[in-house]
Amino acid sequence: MDDLKEKAKLFLDLVLSSSRAVAMTGAGISTESGIPDYRSPGTGLWEKMDQSVVSLDGFMKEPSRYYDYSLELYPLRKQAKPNPAHYLLAELEDRNFLRGIITQNVDGLHQDAGSGQVHELHGSLRQTVCLNCSALHSMDEAMQRAAGGQNPPLCEDCAGVLKPNAVFFGETLPTMPWEQSLELSRGADLFIAIGSSLLVSPANALPDIAIRAGSKIIVLNNTPTPFDGESELVVREKIGEFSSVVMELFKA
Ligand SMILES: [Zn+2]
Repeated sequence: MDDLKEKAKLFLDLVLSSSRAVAMTGAGISTESGIPDYRSPGTGLWEKMDQSVVSLDGFMKEPSRYYDYSLELYPLRKQAKPNPAHYLLAELEDRNFLRGIITQNVDGLHQDAGSGQVHELHGSLRQTVCLNCSALHSMDEAMQRAAGGQNPPLCEDCAGVLKPNAVFFGETLPTMPWEQSLELSRGADLFIAIGSSLLVSPANALPDIAIRAGSKIIVLNNTPTPFDGESELVVREKIGEFSSVVMELFKA
C-alpha cells in the first residue's frame, strides 16, 4: 500500500471510530477549487489587492473601491465549484460521522457541496449586509448593480450602503458562529483541521480547546502547523486528491 492510501485509511479509521468529529477548514481547502489563498506567494490575493480595500476603515471611506476590485475578481468566485474535499465532508456529515464544519472561508463552497452544519467564522461573501438597516441581500444582486453603474450598490429598502457580509480587517467576528464553534470544539473527540496554517487568532484557539478536552487531532495542510506534533495524523498531500482516495475507501 502506498503512503497516500495508507494515510487515507488511517484518516478514515480515525473518523469511523470517533463519535463527535468536527472539521475546521481554511483557505487551503478551496485553492483546488480555484479560489486563491490570501497569503500564498505569487498567487496570494494580497499581492494584487491593497489591504485597505478589505478593512472596515477603508471600506467606510470609499466603498466603491471594493466593488471596483470585485468586478474583476467576482467572476472567478462565481465559477468556483466544490472539490472532493468539500464533498467528502458533506458525505461524512450526511452519514452522521461529522457533527459540523467550522470554516475560516467566506466562499460558500461547503454549502454548495451539501454540508448543512457550517459555521462561518468570517461571514460569507455570498451576502451583503446593509450598513444602515442590517438587512441581508444577495451578493449577486449587489454585483449586478455595481456592474450597472450603481457603485457602491445600495439597499433596496433604505438606500444604505451594502457591505459584503464577510469580516473585514478591523471588525470583530460574528458572535453566533464563534459560540457554536467553541461548543463543537469542546465536545469533539476528533478535530480535523484542513487547509489552515492554524496560526491566525482566534481560530487557532479551537484545536487547542479540543485537545485539552481530550480530542484527537488530524492536520491536512501543505505547510507545517503548530499542532503537527500533537496530531494522530499529518497529511501534506494535495487536499482534494487525498480526499478522493478517502472517499473511495469510504464507499468501498
Ligand atoms: Zn437597508
